[in-house]
Amino acid sequence: MRATIMYAAGDVRVESVPDATLVEPTDAIVRVTRACICGSDLWPYRSMEPSEAAQSMGHEAIGIVENVGDGVRKIKRGDFVIMPFAYSDGRCKFCHEGLHTACVHGGFLGFAGLNGAQAEALRVPEADGTLYTVAGGGDEALMASLLSLSDVMGTGHHAARMSRVASGKNVAVVGDGAVGLCGVIAAKRLGAEQIILIGRHPDRVALGRDFGATDVVTERGDEAVQRVLALSGGHGVHSVLECVGTEQAVVDAVAITRPGGAIGRVGVPHYTGIPASPTFFKNVIVAGGPAPVRAYIEELLPDVLEGRIQPGRVFDRVIGLEDAPDGYRAMDAREALKVMIAP
Ligand SMILES: [Zn+2]
Repeated sequence: MRATIMYAAGDVRVESVPDATLVEPTDAIVRVTRACICGSDLWPYRSMEPSEAAQSMGHEAIGIVENVGDGVRKIKRGDFVIMPFAYSDGRCKFCHEGLHTACVHGGFLGFAGLNGAQAEALRVPEADGTLYTVAGGGDEALMASLLSLSDVMGTGHHAARMSRVASGKNVAVVGDGAVGLCGVIAAKRLGAEQIILIGRHPDRVALGRDFGATDVVTERGDEAVQRVLALSGGHGVHSVLECVGTEQAVVDAVAITRPGGAIGRVGVPHYTGIPASPTFFKNVIVAGGPAPVRAYIEELLPDVLEGRIQPGRVFDRVIGLEDAPDGYRAMDAREALKVMIAP
């Protein structure tokens, strides 16, 4: 089968690899009908050293179950499924608490010898706990939004939940990537009154306004902070969704949070610390981490199926699997917001 492999920064290839096969009785093999490139895939795309082992890429997919192991009870051949970016058994105490990304038998797709989702097929461990079957298979027009439930929409929702977004609150979203824009959807959905999107890419902030952003701040750094403070009555906002993961993003997030407010951080951290004094003296809650998207599918799916939210609009380019290297290039150059792969 064909799969996307990264060898070094800027060096992504689509190659023939051994077919995905069942290994554990709890595995399923999923034929990928849609996958995508994640903003987090761009970190190794910019920095991976050639000496490291090649990396099988991709952790977001929807597809059809092709085969299941003897120990799989709920998932059936032919099921149309959403595959969250982390696998989880659905049975342990963390899964029961809704924190599937801390599952004691869990892990992340594309790592530890598992092939990634930017491929024709992949092996999914703990199939019963991991995969979510969409009855009826889903309408073709909904595929992009269903795919977003494997990561970006669930991750934006997690940022909103962790930052305590609630009815009547004011909110700022740091970052106009796919997760930030899904964070706007999530904040609106949870009843935020004011949603300030910090981003500067014209197409992206326009989509953010469509999704419910009430204000857009295109400045950066201290100027952005001053604008957000001015827009929020001088004290900052109740909830900040940090959807970037850089030092600057975290410093800004802390600066625009009002006393007693909360930050939900979902950008993979490429910083070493969170400013201690301002978070302490403002009594700011800092929460977040890898989103348990498996836990959120149940809550978000009805809104997708009934058209109340359209997170699939973040996909602005569709390519075939063989064109994955160009998809990386386009996202890295910010020509594309988020690239969908239709193998
Ligand atoms: Zn678990």
